[in-house]
Amino acid sequence: MTHDLHTLSLTAVRDLLRTGEVTAVAAAQACLDRMAATEPKLHAVLHTAAASALDAAASLDAAGPDPKKRLWGVPVLVKDAICAKGLPTTCGSKILEHFVPFYDATAVAELKAAGAVILGKTNMDEFAMGSSTENSAYQTTANPWNLAKVPGGSSGGSAAAVSAGQCFGALGTDTGGSIRQPASFCGIVGIKPTYGRVSRYGLVAYGSSLDQIGPMTRTVEDAAAMLTVIAGHDPKDSTSAPQDAPDYEAALAAWAKAGDLKGLRLGLPDEYWGEGVDAEVLACCRGAVDAAKGLGAEVVRVSLPHTPYAVATYYIVAMAEASSNLARFDGVRYGLRDATATDLPGLYELSRAKGFGPEVQRRIVIGTYVLSAGYYDAYYRKAAQVRRLIRQDFLDAFASCDVIVGPTSPFTAFGIAEMTEDPLQMYLSDIFTISLNLAGLPGMSIPVGLGAKSGMPVGLQLFGPAFGEERLLRTAKAMMDAVAPPMTPRGI
Ligand code: GLN
Repeated sequence: MTHDLHTLSLTAVRDLLRTGEVTAVAAAQACLDRMAATEPKLHAVLHTAAASALDAAASLDAAGPDPKKRLWGVPVLVKDAICAKGLPTTCGSKILEHFVPFYDATAVAELKAAGAVILGKTNMDEFAMGSSTENSAYQTTANPWNLAKVPGGSSGGSAAAVSAGQCFGALGTDTGGSIRQPASFCGIVGIKPTYGRVSRYGLVAYGSSLDQIGPMTRTVEDAAAMLTVIAGHDPKDSTSAPQDAPDYEAALAAWAKAGDLKGLRLGLPDEYWGEGVDAEVLACCRGAVDAAKGLGAEVVRVSLPHTPYAVATYYIVAMAEASSNLARFDGVRYGLRDATATDLPGLYELSRAKGFGPEVQRRIVIGTYVLSAGYYDAYYRKAAQVRRLIRQDFLDAFASCDVIVGPTSPFTAFGIAEMTEDPLQMYLSDIFTISLNLAGLPGMSIPVGLGAKSGMPVGLQLFGPAFGEERLLRTAKAMMDAVAPPMTPRGI
């Protein structure tokens, strides 16, 4: 049994751990073995913490299973933008190549307190800037369904690792879709919680008003279990929501006894279901909506009229915040310091030129420009105003529906190197995910089948009102159970 442990869901392996049928060390070893077998082709992990993971697992085993710890003995991976004490945290960048934090991010501390075992850190686009994980300064991650395709990004390492069974769940971060889009490309479940629901303490900042940490797993129940552990108020993060998080897992289990969607109004925005979306994506997403109708959901048309402005608005706001957040990497306080500089301006220039890759440099330049005295009103202020309109679109739509659904991405995973020459094309591919971050609302992506033409996973996206995660989880579980998408990647 132990040799195919990695194919089980997080909650299934947790049950075996709780009864003592599987030890924490055996679970960690099964994942490490799976990593050893798949990493030469996948390149999903930047740092494997085999020794500390096995040590942590051995201490858990010595103390014995603890049912009060929700993730007792469960091996997980963490995106390399999130600090884990004693493990390198590079954020996919050369500028942080030798950075080893001496503290845990709150989300990581919560995972450890719940008994989870941290297996290592996953690959990502440098500073979470990208949609394919190709902007990592270290390696290109492959998609487990087809090794010639990207896993999506920026949390592509986490998505590929979860899909390939290297771990039972992983943390990702989502500033403009970086949990949902790779989840969709790799055929797994990913949640971007409401802004403020999960602490950002210990997360390397990209766009601070947009960033959220969230779970990436193979089932909706698994995502609910992880979210319950990491959600909640954190005094260390001043933007953390000052309200207790519910037990999402218990709420989902209680609802699952009924299991239908009677009374639920599913909103389909006109802007997400038409032009520009591949036919195979629309077909799979429509299939999931039909399944929801079969379970009693009512379908209503809604509109998010400011969608055409979302990409421009997002890239102004995100780059402005990034240019400010990344100013701290100056060769003095953190990370890479150029040894050849002869004066202070030279130290800044050379350290940053050598430490940051081309996409990060591009964004710092554009972000600085849109915040500069002569252009602030034309760009940043305007973007902040449009952002408010985009949020209002959602609030208006939620007056006539409970959950909004649409494709996560207009297409399935694209080929490695297919879009790297054209950053604008890459930005445009985020069209369906970025509005949600601008609005601060929760969303998730679930797999709903394989594209008829590409054979690659298709993701359906669900949007909820603020703090509507429970509703999202219920709807997602019902739809995913009804569709029963294939979950075993064929490429690895
Ligand atoms: N693809 C978007 C970007 O490049 C979103 C990234 C993210 O969510 N971190 O900014």
